[in-house]
Amino acid sequence: MKFFITIYTVFMVLLSANVYAESIRVTILGSGGPSTSPTRFGASTLVEAGKEKLLFDVGRGAIIRLEQNKTPLSDITVFLTHLHSDHINGLSDLWSVSYIAPTFRNKPLEIYGPTGINDVTSGIQTAYKPNINIRTLEYAEKGVNFYPKGATFDATEVKQEGVIFNRGGVKVSAIDVEHGEGRSFAYRVDYAGRSVVISGDTRMSKNLANKAKGTDIIIHEVMAVDEKLLKSSALFQSVLTGHTSPEDAALIFNDVKPKMAVFNHLILLGVSPARLKERTHKIYTGPLVIGQDLMTFIVDDEVSLINK
Ligand SMILES: [Zn+2]
Ligand SMILES: [Zn+2]
Repeated sequence: MKFFITIYTVFMVLLSANVYAESIRVTILGSGGPSTSPTRFGASTLVEAGKEKLLFDVGRGAIIRLEQNKTPLSDITVFLTHLHSDHINGLSDLWSVSYIAPTFRNKPLEIYGPTGINDVTSGIQTAYKPNINIRTLEYAEKGVNFYPKGATFDATEVKQEGVIFNRGGVKVSAIDVEHGEGRSFAYRVDYAGRSVVISGDTRMSKNLANKAKGTDIIIHEVMAVDEKLLKSSALFQSVLTGHTSPEDAALIFNDVKPKMAVFNHLILLGVSPARLKERTHKIYTGPLVIGQDLMTFIVDDEVSLINK
């Protein structure tokens, strides 16, 4: 009898481990736009699949949200959608904190991004050179192990669409989108038959809709301006040409037909989250969540929001 109980227990543990292993966990770390907000931090989304912890954009405060989410900092791989400041201003913080105590990352921070990524990473390393020198001496005095490699980046420039990362069954593909002057990518993560698409910043993109088709969950940016305000502001009209309105996002969702659509990178000017939802649902009637910091979605056979 004891033998069968042991076998049963081992089976159940393996089963639950397997179930866990084949789901993807998506956490909105920052749901805000470029402006400062104490409740909506800068753009950053964590995707956990298999053994991989993939961080898409590192906006302001990402490291604080990672800590709140109890995510270890040592094994994160970073993907930048584009190089606007609101998507990278948490990067030096993440990088520099994770090579000192208590993390002591002993390898470079692996990072992928469009042309200009090497300028970003080498610039950060230059800015922090005095800090690294000082800490190296201080740690040596205290007899603490400090890994010089931890204070470096392993940067890969993403030059074109397609698969850019493939490890342990986790695949990340870059998707061309349109957003202002520099190159911008959306990313699609595929793992164990599940998928997640993160739009990054983009105007309505047919290419994104095609490549995202049938994905389980799409995390999409949005910019909504009060109609009167928009008419009177040439600046907002111009900014909106690089972003996606709720109505355009609704058309994308109708095309993609995700199990769950989530708005992040909320740029709302005179529009409440409730009004944003209303405007989107006039065209798209499927599942929609207005993202908030630290919302977590489990992507399994179904997509479920497990907090907030
Ligand atoms: Zn941008
Ligand atoms: Zn942005």
